Amino acid sequence: MTLLVVGSIALDSVETPFGETADALGGSAVFFSVAGSLIHPVQVVGVVGHDYPYERLERLARRGIDLGGVERIQGESFRWKGKYSYDLQNRETLETRLGVFAAFEPRIPEAFRDARHVFLGNIDPELQLGVLDQIHDPLLVACDTMNYWIQSKRDVLLELLRRVDVLLVNDAEARQLSGDWNIYRAARWILKHGPRYIVIKQGEYGAVLVGADGTFYVPAFPLEEVFDPTGAGDAFAGGFMAHLARTQDVSHENLRRAMVVGSAMGSFAVERFSVQRFDELTPDEIAARVRAFSELVRFDTEPFNEGQGWP
Ligand code: AMP
Repeated sequence: MTLLVVGSIALDSVETPFGETADALGGSAVFFSVAGSLIHPVQVVGVVGHDYPYERLERLARRGIDLGGVERIQGESFRWKGKYSYDLQNRETLETRLGVFAAFEPRIPEAFRDARHVFLGNIDPELQLGVLDQIHDPLLVACDTMNYWIQSKRDVLLELLRRVDVLLVNDAEARQLSGDWNIYRAARWILKHGPRYIVIKQGEYGAVLVGADGTFYVPAFPLEEVFDPTGAGDAFAGGFMAHLARTQDVSHENLRRAMVVGSAMGSFAVERFSVQRFDELTPDEIAARVRAFSELVRFDTEPFNEGQGWP
């Protein structure tokens, strides 16, 4: 089943304690589609300026990313520059040059309007609503947002949430949106405002899925080398949505698997700068990492069986 992403296509310059990169492929739609396309084909809607290294995107097209919705217009591409603290926990945005992204009005090509799985990357919630108006009959809509929109377009965002099945945000965003510091209460608050599920990402502490049918937690993969956390959230979303689109199953059990696939893809994203780690990544490596998660959390409950008393 078709999977569509609408989001930023950027040139990222990132400084970490381990190195730096300039004008590397980035943006939510890029991280999402590069990670997701290893699992299921992805259709992309976005905008780039005349200075974008488009041939690098075209190379990605060969592996199942349909760029039919990427507009190329005169002007500068969106550029984002960030710097991470020593422990990679904090990120400072040094520069955001919107360029052609400032006037982005997503136009969904006719051929993409039957998309059944839709991911609305972090853009103005008014534009996210405009995307939904162009999609005929989506089965599962997921979206992301950020502090800026939560603060400046709260009412539109709340209107959007009523039309969304899954909200994927980080813990700070969940707290800001709900006004509650406790993430589980924040999740309840968000579920009352529309989405059937909320995924709260907590960086190196993992991610939690909350829905009416229960709560599921997936750890972050215990990596000894983390290079650049940029895009981990979008790669997570790419893995999560691509798994659901590939399996055509939105049951709670399968959403749990999607969480693990998402966490696996997020863990690959941070092992290199930009989207480099996905270049040579094989299906076997992805499957092995997914299996490794089950080993991380598996334990024998037999000694604690009911009626046995404390072992
Ligand atoms: P994440 O690390 O998951 O927050 O995603 C980082 C990506 O978001 C980078 O590749 C940036 O290019 C992109 N980005 C940064 N700021 C914005 C923004 N205001 N709107 C859309 N995308 C952004």
